[in-house]
Amino acid sequence: MKIAIAASEFFPFAKVGGLADAVSSLATALAKRGNEVYTFLPRYGMIKGDELFLKKDGYDVHIIKKNDNLRHLFIKHPIYDREGIYGEKGKDYPDMFERFTFFSECVIDLSYELGVDVIHLNDWHTGYGSLYSLKKYNKKIPVLFTIHNLAYQGVFPFEFGDKTKLGKDVFKDYLHHNMINLMKTGILCSDAVNTVSETYAKEILTKEYGEGLEEVLNSRKDSLFGIINGIDEEVWRVPDILTKKDEYKKELQGFVGFEKKDVPLFGLISRLVDQKGFDILLKCMDDFLSMDVQFVLLGTGDPKYHQEIEKIGERHKGKISINLKFDEELALKIYRGADFFLMPSRFEPCGLGQMISLINATIPIVRKTGGLADTVKDFENDIENGNGIVFSEYSEKELFNSIKRAVELYKNKDKMKVLRERGVNSDFSWSRSAGEYEKIYKFIKEKI
Ligand code: ADP
Repeated sequence: MKIAIAASEFFPFAKVGGLADAVSSLATALAKRGNEVYTFLPRYGMIKGDELFLKKDGYDVHIIKKNDNLRHLFIKHPIYDREGIYGEKGKDYPDMFERFTFFSECVIDLSYELGVDVIHLNDWHTGYGSLYSLKKYNKKIPVLFTIHNLAYQGVFPFEFGDKTKLGKDVFKDYLHHNMINLMKTGILCSDAVNTVSETYAKEILTKEYGEGLEEVLNSRKDSLFGIINGIDEEVWRVPDILTKKDEYKKELQGFVGFEKKDVPLFGLISRLVDQKGFDILLKCMDDFLSMDVQFVLLGTGDPKYHQEIEKIGERHKGKISINLKFDEELALKIYRGADFFLMPSRFEPCGLGQMISLINATIPIVRKTGGLADTVKDFENDIENGNGIVFSEYSEKELFNSIKRAVELYKNKDKMKVLRERGVNSDFSWSRSAGEYEKIYKFIKEKI
């Protein structure tokens, strides 16, 4: 099949979170399975190594040809030629709407020009593409829309619609509380919708997780699927991790300036935002760090969390390493060197950290939600298959209780060994999930 995949992030060119990893490794897996894949990304300032592919009216298309089946296309226009993806210094760019609706128009026009079989759009940044395809081309090529995170919806005033080629009136049928909502547009105008785990696909139909779009999603229930993301094993797996675990742990301890002692080492790598459970984590941090433990935290995000974490750091020197930055090299060291990995998310569409941890013999501690519920089973509730520590109620008490269980578990070296082996032996490769995507592509192609 000839497939177009468009997103606002794409590893390794431009990454903020899991979206970049998910679309990139899906594209690679689909290409490996013999599909002809074209990926689309705005040509942001940090993108290098590309060359001119096409000159269009008002923009250029650049290309990096990975191989015969995988071509990365970049939309080159001055509105993308900046340092950031969504903004700089914690502030969103004011022309977010223009940046991503223009991108969506280019993606659809080019997909029709290339004659692809299916167009795969991802998250709100590309949601308008499905409406543009419907209105301009009467949707002769089927569109799949994937929700990676429903919390971000791309909400703009109705008048902004006039900044697009089609004008504001086309948005009328898809407004949400009188505003343009590009997530809702994508959900309603695509031939099928999916999200990135089976549990999240069910959760978003409820008021608790639907972010105000639960009714819209219920109206598409028959075409709504859940497919768990894989991870790129070539990027994340190291050979012989089980025998080298101690070495990696010492390396991490040395790197962050911890004493190289035999205590449970916890890691956390995340965007520092409400979704990820920082309110409950911060509330139990003093109790957590009063135990004989070490904790490496890597993340950036909400300034309020930066400040609070730094204050906590002052009180627990030598036990916590705070790294408020984006650092892929340190991330890898943490995934490999930590004993436990914390993901106390309020909600989690899929989550990659728990899977990357598992294959690196690092035991995840997660809240039972979304993709975390689908990939981590509690070692005491599921004796045969348990691979981590799982709690249900979103509270600091439950989280702290799980941390205490981890500290106890750490003392039982045999049990730790079993859980580590289970993690390392798990299969989170993309090939299975890529096959599921192919099935949906075929399904929507036949539907049209
Ligand atoms: P989300 O997409 O909601 O941010 P995921 O768990 O799906 O969460 O994916 C997060 C990805 O981003 C993981 O690959 C994680 O390692 C990476 N990541 C998050 N924060 C950082 C950071 N500060 N430095 C390096 N990598 C990070």
